[in-house]
Amino acid sequence: MKVWLDGHLVDKQHATVPVYDHGLLYGDGVFEGIRVYNGRIFKLKSHLERLAASAHAIHLTLHYTIREIEQAVRETVVANGLKDAYIRLVVTRGAGPLGLNPFTCPKPATIIIVDRITLYPEEMYAEGMPVIVAKRPRVPVECLDPAVKSLNYLNNILAKVEAIEAGCHEAVMLNTDGEVCECTGDNIFLVRGSRIVTPPVSAGLLNGVTRLFVMNEVAPACGIDVAERTLRLDDLFTADEIFLTGTAAEVIGVRSVNGTAIGEGRVGPITGRLVSEFRSRVAREAPED
Ligand code: PMP
Repeated sequence: MKVWLDGHLVDKQHATVPVYDHGLLYGDGVFEGIRVYNGRIFKLKSHLERLAASAHAIHLTLHYTIREIEQAVRETVVANGLKDAYIRLVVTRGAGPLGLNPFTCPKPATIIIVDRITLYPEEMYAEGMPVIVAKRPRVPVECLDPAVKSLNYLNNILAKVEAIEAGCHEAVMLNTDGEVCECTGDNIFLVRGSRIVTPPVSAGLLNGVTRLFVMNEVAPACGIDVAERTLRLDDLFTADEIFLTGTAAEVIGVRSVNGTAIGEGRVGPITGRLVSEFRSRVAREAPED
């Protein structure tokens, strides 16, 4: 595997960053996860726009232009010769002296990894995923806005540990007001009758590229209405269906929450339709915005 590191394609084993990089020392940086389907990069422009917005939010000036990063991403995909892949694009604050001050780091490190990813076992797509509700709330928007895809993932990681300890792969996270936000690495949707609902970004969540694709393209193509609505814990248990969306997860049904079956306790019919529409769209046309 070849990794793009600050302008050079280097072998995976030689792709290293200095131990003084503030990305490592403080989790100071931003990233994106992007898919390649059938040789085409899915929603690259949306991911690059979100990367730029995340960088701006943490006062990080990118070393390369978005156009240059786009070219570098394409070059790295070609160099690795994978038709179906996962891209991890990372911009760290770069190396600097010890101490939090980000402005002491002269140059951010830009890293592009192209590899494969398997997030959840295949049978979970057929049978639905059991999830729990994490006891730990999502970091409030006013502390570190979850809409910023930063290298600070400990809030999510500790909620993920709760999920793993409960024998699950995902945990639903609530905000400090008890409203549903998202999962540790996926957005959440409920099905109510013939409609799907998802929490608004203001609840404190990452505005997922897959979330927007489902809301604006996949659901309308299936003739399904979508609404953003504040959701509470009760809404989860009374939903007809629940599904999650994410770049790595794609669209996956949830069969239970905290051991309580949702709907019939399997992947519901609307989720099933969305999954097939999603899969056929990415395979067929791989929209690039
Ligand atoms: N929420 C969180 C916390 C995430 O890390 C991710 C990405 N893995 C998502 C939602 C889904 O976003 P996207 O569809 O852009 O991958």
